[in-house]
Amino acid sequence: MRTMKDGIPLRVKASAAVSRGSVWNGDIPIAKLPRLAAVLTDAEGELRVELAAERDTAGAARLRGSIAGELGLVCHTCMTAFRWPLHTSLDLRLVHSEAEERRLLHDCEPLLVEDDTVPLHEVVEEEVLLAIPIAPRCSTCTG
Ligand SMILES: [Zn+2]
Repeated sequence: MRTMKDGIPLRVKASAAVSRGSVWNGDIPIAKLPRLAAVLTDAEGELRVELAAERDTAGAARLRGSIAGELGLVCHTCMTAFRWPLHTSLDLRLVHSEAEERRLLHDCEPLLVEDDTVPLHEVVEEEVLLAIPIAPRCSTCTG
């Protein structure tokens, strides 16, 4: 049975979340994600996050979801600050050893689970950092 939770917990127990098929929906204020806030022009706004822990048809534990929001970036071309619309999805395979992580690296995006804990806010922050373009351009410069 799927349990819908309000809000995104800081961290969850991986084994329990996967066996329950937990689903989380909620906002994370950007101000609460210091590594992300540090690369943005400001820490205003929040990320709209949907996450689901589940076992896929092959029996592998996964964390799937989507993240959306507006991030303050500086245009690489005209150097003007602008709001960049973020829409990204994630599909992480939960692994329990570095050997397993290395083995699966080419087939999927592994997430090493330590102490049966998945730090959801940190995972979201990492995914958003990866989604930010290296040379962002504002809508004027992209035409
Ligand atoms: Zn521009």
